[in-house]
Amino acid sequence: LNPDHPNRHELQRRLERDDVVDLLLVDDRQENLLALEATLLDDGHRLIQVRSGDEALRYLLDHEPALILMDVQMPGLDGYETASLIKGSERTREIPIIFITALNPDELFAQRGYEFGAVDYIYKPYDPRILRSKVAVFVELARKTRRLVSAERQLANNERRERERQLAQLELKGLRREQADQKKYLELVEGINHGIVWAADPSSMQVSFVSSSAERILGYPAAQWSEEAGFLTNHVAPEDRSKVLTAIRALENGEPNPSVEHRFMTADGREVWLQTGIRLAPANEMHEREIRGLSVDITQIKQAEASLRKNKRRSDFLAEASLLLSDSLDYQTTLTRLGDLAVPRLADWYGVYNLDSQGQIRTMAVSHQQVDRVDHARDIEVRYPLRPDADRGVARVLRTGEAELVPVVDEAFMRAVSNGPEHLAEIRSYGMESAMIVPLVARGRVLGAMTLVSAGSGHRYDQSDLDFAQDLARRAASSIENSNLYREAQAAVRTRDDFLSIASHELKTPLTPLKIQTQALLRALSHGSELKIERVAKMAQTSDRQISRLSRLIDDLLDISRIGQGKLDLILEKIDLCDLVRDIVERFCGPGCGSRCEVEFECAAPIWIQGDRMRIEQVMTNLLTNAIKYGPGKPISVRIGREGEYATVAFSDQGIGIAPEDVHRIFGRFERAVSGNHFGGLGLGLYIVHQILAAHGATIGVESALGVGSTFRVKLPAS
Ligand code: ADP
Repeated sequence: LNPDHPNRHELQRRLERDDVVDLLLVDDRQENLLALEATLLDDGHRLIQVRSGDEALRYLLDHEPALILMDVQMPGLDGYETASLIKGSERTREIPIIFITALNPDELFAQRGYEFGAVDYIYKPYDPRILRSKVAVFVELARKTRRLVSAERQLANNERRERERQLAQLELKGLRREQADQKKYLELVEGINHGIVWAADPSSMQVSFVSSSAERILGYPAAQWSEEAGFLTNHVAPEDRSKVLTAIRALENGEPNPSVEHRFMTADGREVWLQTGIRLAPANEMHEREIRGLSVDITQIKQAEASLRKNKRRSDFLAEASLLLSDSLDYQTTLTRLGDLAVPRLADWYGVYNLDSQGQIRTMAVSHQQVDRVDHARDIEVRYPLRPDADRGVARVLRTGEAELVPVVDEAFMRAVSNGPEHLAEIRSYGMESAMIVPLVARGRVLGAMTLVSAGSGHRYDQSDLDFAQDLARRAASSIENSNLYREAQAAVRTRDDFLSIASHELKTPLTPLKIQTQALLRALSHGSELKIERVAKMAQTSDRQISRLSRLIDDLLDISRIGQGKLDLILEKIDLCDLVRDIVERFCGPGCGSRCEVEFECAAPIWIQGDRMRIEQVMTNLLTNAIKYGPGKPISVRIGREGEYATVAFSDQGIGIAPEDVHRIFGRFERAVSGNHFGGLGLGLYIVHQILAAHGATIGVESALGVGSTFRVKLPAS
């Protein structure tokens, strides 16, 4: 802009407006350019002035003026040549050109100008108004074109934006759907309660995702899964690790969906069973492949299976055991064979114990996983018998009849059952891990105690094992009971047979002389021979003795049946024991009784008791006749005295005596300690004596030594 132009500032502002267009003025002469400028300035366009065709072309390289006003005659490239070059270029072809020339219009010349693409000619000297109006037409055209172009561009822009918006919306929709899908899947994954969904890198097995159920099922926080190196393999139970690795290898070798059941250690040290299915997910956008796993908690199923298997094993065992228990009636054999069955299926060490007559714990049967331990176990129990007063273990079970479960055999248990430091050291060396002690109970009686011990197998017994052991023990006990009953029944049958033969013999013994006497008497009478009265009297005496003997036997039998029916009635009266016993001694050993017995009788003063006279006589007679019978010809002493509240009678003989092992049973029914061939008798006397005395609140005891003699001592409440 001409710095001297009066409206320069205003013009400047206008030029800076958007719709300002450029006019390129090409003239080699400065004065012409100034004249053009003077004419065209002020019209809302920028005037660019160049001084040659070259300059014009250079300018056009990166500008697009609305109009070119060009002088025709210029040195170098003239107007036509320049126009021809401008029209030759695609980019500048459309720019209108007005030639300005001082030459007269020459038709041909002008024509040439049009050929070169001129739009118009202006001849010098020109009328500025005409020039301005011509220029204005082109400027306006350029402006409109530009607006059109800009509008077009705007439109194109808008369309593009709209397309972009639609695309964006589509994408957004897709994204939302994807998100929704993801959310759905995530919800699905998170909704799996009994299983854990996880993903891991195939080469490092590093976990990249785990569902929230993991923490609840296994206890490890989700972060630990992904942060701990080798988390998955670290916590698989060691015994199942190779199984899991095999499944992963199978996956790598192309097996589609390997699945494996394995144990897994929880954070709090428990063992759970998982069924893990794995698959290899195809590479994602980041070209990564991953192992995806679903681990389902099947602990309960496994437990149910195990308990089914256990129950099956148990019922098989029980079936075998029952067969065995019913097989033999010798309980010793049965218990030993039961031990062979129980070891090692139920225990590493099996034992059955009971109490002997001295109250000591005795081993009835023992069985051990290691055969050499059986003798050792027996040996130890002989050397260190179990403490019968222990408040745990066998002693307690024998005492209370209650089973005891020792899930873990600890120091306290071993101390409680041991018999001192040496025994404790011995018990410690057994390596006991877990134990069960169950009573053998039949008909409310504790027959023994069975121990099942794990020592080496690592088995820990629980309540269900104990229930099972109790069931087994009940069966064993009833088998023992059966064999006991069988033995008792056999003994009873034997006793009955013995009794019948003895009874018939005993009954027959007095009958034979009676019959002989009677027949002799009849013979004499039939022959009419005279019978001396002395002889008849003697015969009658013999017969009377036999009849008495017979009636005593029959009385005894009657008493037995009375006692059996609980009908031993007593008629009590005040009796002087001295008097009563003295009479009996007189009767059996006094002068004229005919028996060879020497009795030393001792009784200081009358000793009164309340009793049934006949029954007390029966007792004393029995004891005296036994002393005579089992110590024939030997002196007897009968001593009556008082011991505090009691009256005592002691019958001492120097007869055959009684073996210590028989002493406890001679007061039993049909019990005898001698053979029937040597001494007659039914084995009922002492039984009846015992029963009569018991009915009087009295007792009887015996001290005896074989071949030395016996003393029977009766203690009756004194009146
Ligand atoms: P019995 O004499 O009829 O056999 P008892 O009941 O009177 O029956 O006695 C039971 C057993 O006790 C006898 O068989 C005998 O072995 C033993 N007995 C009883 N009294 C004596 C005694 N004074 N001396 C030795 N043994 C005796």
